[in-house]
Amino acid sequence: MIDTQKYKTQLEELLAELTADLTEIGIHDPKNTENWIETTKDLGTSNADPLDVADRTEEWDERKATVAVLETRYNNITHALANIEAGTYGVCEIGGEEIETDRLDANPAARTCKAHIEEEANLPN
Ligand SMILES: [Zn+2]
Repeated sequence: MIDTQKYKTQLEELLAELTADLTEIGIHDPKNTENWIETTKDLGTSNADPLDVADRTEEWDERKATVAVLETRYNNITHALANIEAGTYGVCEIGGEEIETDRLDANPAARTCKAHIEEEANLPN
């Protein structure tokens, strides 16, 4: 039997941390709560030096990549919390078997068992 209360607490803590991180570099898309949009805030604006512009473009690309990674984690966590509410937490989304507790301990937002770990990245949100 999976101790969902334990994982729920962990997931809520992770979600709070991720929300704080994402809020620093992006905003929540008001039309789609699974989407975060990176902001240009703090990247600097008024200086027209071309070298600075190149730096900013690079920083902007990095920020976009960071937002994408955090957004995936964020969505996996909200997904896991929804599964806890629905009573379907800890079930592999590929094969339907119970996810190993040591895997959930390492990643409470895991969506697959160890045998299907390679396929997790291909799952739709
Ligand atoms: Zn599986």
